[in-house]
Formats: sequence, C-alpha cells, structure tokens
Amino acid sequence: DASPNNLEPFWMPFTANRQFKKAPRLLVSAKDMHYQSHDGRTILDGTAGLWCVNAGHARKEIAEAVGAQLTKLDYAPAFQMGHPAAFQLSNTLTQMLPEFDHVFFANSGSEAVDTALKISLAYQRAIGQGARTRLLGRERGYHGVGFGGISVGGIVSNRKVFGPMLAGVDHLPHTHDLKRNAFVRGLPEHGAELADQLERIVALHDASTIAAVIVEPVAGSTGVLLPPKGYLQKLRAICDKYGILLIFDEVITGFGRLGASFATEYFGVVPDMITCAKGLTNGVIPMGAVFVRKGIYDAFMNAPENTIELFHGYTYSGNPAACAASLAVLDIYKRESLFERAAELAPYWEDAVHSLKGTKHVIDLRNLGLIGAIELEPREGKPTARAFEAFLGCYEKGVLIRTTGDIIALSPPLIVQKTHIDQIFDTIGKVLKAIN
Ligand code: PMP
Repeated sequence: DASPNNLEPFWMPFTANRQFKKAPRLLVSAKDMHYQSHDGRTILDGTAGLWCVNAGHARKEIAEAVGAQLTKLDYAPAFQMGHPAAFQLSNTLTQMLPEFDHVFFANSGSEAVDTALKISLAYQRAIGQGARTRLLGRERGYHGVGFGGISVGGIVSNRKVFGPMLAGVDHLPHTHDLKRNAFVRGLPEHGAELADQLERIVALHDASTIAAVIVEPVAGSTGVLLPPKGYLQKLRAICDKYGILLIFDEVITGFGRLGASFATEYFGVVPDMITCAKGLTNGVIPMGAVFVRKGIYDAFMNAPENTIELFHGYTYSGNPAACAASLAVLDIYKRESLFERAAELAPYWEDAVHSLKGTKHVIDLRNLGLIGAIELEPREGKPTARAFEAFLGCYEKGVLIRTTGDIIALSPPLIVQKTHIDQIFDTIGKVLKAIN
C-alpha cells in the first residue's frame, strides 16, 4: 500500500527520513515528461528524475526489450562467461566514442568511479609506473558515495563522519567564481588559469607519484558549475606533460545532456577514461560503465602474464537485463535524434534560464545544453532554507526541481517541449517572487 500512512519499514538514508515523514511525496507512476503523485498531482519533471531519465519516463520499448531478455537469458556469470547483449552494448558504446576501445561494466556511477580509479592505478603499474599511487579530484566535485568517490570527491561534509579516506588524495580548486562570472551565458570567460594549480600539486608531490586526476566536465550535483573556457583543455595538456591520466566523470554529462553524445565531444577534449551511468539505461535498471581509451587495455594485455593482476568486477557487471535496457535506450536516443534535439533546443533553454535575471533572490544563472542552474542568495542565518522553500513551492505548483544548497539545478528529459520549458521557468519565477 503506497500511501503516506504506511511508511514503515523505511528505506531512505536515515537523515532523509525526518523531513520526508513530515511531508511525504510519493510518486506512483510516470509517463514521458510527467510524474503522478499519491495525492493525484501531475508533476512536470524538470530534473529527469535524478539527471537520468533522458529519453522520458516509462518507455514501452525499454520495458519490452528487458522483458524479452529476461525470458531468454536472465543471468550469465560475469567473470567466466559472456553473452551477446554485453558484447553488442560495448560495441555500440565504443562506436559512439571511437577513441575508446574498451568498456568496463558496473552497476552505478559510484561503482564506475571506483572502477576507473582502480584501473588508473593498475595501468600505471602495468607500464612500470607503480610509484604513481596518488589520485587527485577537485573541490566541489561529486563522484558518488563509495570510498574512492568520497575521497576524490570535493564535498567535505560527505566524508567527515567516515574517518580516514584514501591516502595521498589531493584536490584542485573549484572554478566557481561568482564575482567574475555571474550571469554569463554558457561557459564562464574567467578561471581557466585555475587548471595551473595542477602544476602546483605536481611541484609539491612530484609528478611521478600521481596516477590520475578525476573531474566532472560540468560539476552537476554541486550546482551545475561550468568549466571556464579553456580549462579542460589546459588540464589535458598538463596531464599529458606529466604522464597523469585524466578521467572525466560523465555520469551526468553523458548521453546528450550538453547537446552532444558526451562532454568529451562537446569540449573536444579526450580524457583517458570516462565514467557514465544514469542515462546509460535511462535510469530504469542500475548500470554504470567506464570507457577506456585505446592503449590502456593493450598495456594490460601486453604485460607479461601474471605480472599485473587486476581483480575487479561485480556479480552484476554487464547483466543481461541492464544491457538489454541500455541497447533499447541507445536505440531511442538515435532514432529520435535526442542529442541533436537537445542541441537545437539549447538556445531556447538558455533564453528561458536567463529570463529569470532580475527575479527576486537570484544571484546567478547558468546554462549549457539542457542543463541549468539558478543560484539564490542564501537567507541570512539559514542557508538552504530559501531553495528548499522554492522546491516545495514548485512541487505544489506541479514542477519538479532539484536543489543543492542554495542552487536550483535543472535537467529535463531530452524529449522536453518548449511549452514545458516555459512552464518550468514561469513556475520558478512565480514561486521565487512569493517567498522571502
Ligand atoms: N558521479 C557523478 C558525476 C554523479 O553525478 C553521480 C550521481 N549523481 C555519481 C557519480 C554517483 O552515481 P550513483 O548515484 O549512480 O552511484
């Protein structure tokens, strides 16, 4: 019985319980751009679920593909056996990004991140660089909740109760600079020089101790922080100079969010590994993956046998149902040209985001592709309260937004129509005007 009167036993993160129990919001069904709630509301999805439902909700093609797979081959042991859907999927994925010739399957973004970090360490060993054990992340980066991810992640509050993290991790400074970049459309003009901080870390620790740097090309979960023009290119150049691997965490930016297949395509910067999840299966079945650039796989295969043991993998790596879901999703993306569609809608989206300039409480607006952010002035003495009220107000008016701190983040399914975009920003504008 999915009614708010029947909320035990509870499955949410412990601290989320308190707030949720005060005001339960149960979603009972979904179709295309909308959710239905337990109390009969129709809610326009401004966040693609949690940045994942890029092809829209409850797509029949995906359900049918998963059903057909499950009645044909439900499971194949992940280590000793293969199955056709997994090969088909890895082929389809590497065709999307020709510089990458290998895909490692996981079950979530967090697992994809751990996988990429471990591959980077093992690869450095495989090429005789075993002293490279340091991993670098970036302040305000989010890489999931595994120990690898929270160590390289740049959200101090996510790791402080968990004691010592991975050793030898350092963080590049974040690039979010409201003073220099507020209200800029698209990429910030200022801040690319912050990539030079990687040189400072290299000078501090010696490049020969650093295995990899992981960054989100666009930091999503911490408030849609866009990379300054030239920043990612600079990072790539410095990594090349010192033999450091560059990992793009594309769990959010992958699969069309920026109006290109991946951020690597959008920015024209090729990292050594790419992590993805979310849009990989449209959110319907847990799955993550790591794209590995040409040469990395060969280094393992060409190392003398038994010198490099990379024991890593999951019971459900490449499980048939997830592969079938992903193949159906990739087919929809292609058939409906959803990445191109996102690129075509991006200017309309940009105007809609920036139409809120001058609205009460708004101190910055950001956009790229079909991602956006509205940064609010924190209420004095009560940071995050204003954004949370905005979330509640929008929900009341039938629009789902996401807040992180005092930032509203937006990422609609890529099937969004202009009328939906209008509704999202009209609603947010009205709600912001009405709150203190
Ligand atoms: N990396 C990034 C960039 C993410 O945005 C997320 C999820 N928001 C993760 C990793 C973790 O993914 P998951 O929640 O599937 O473990």
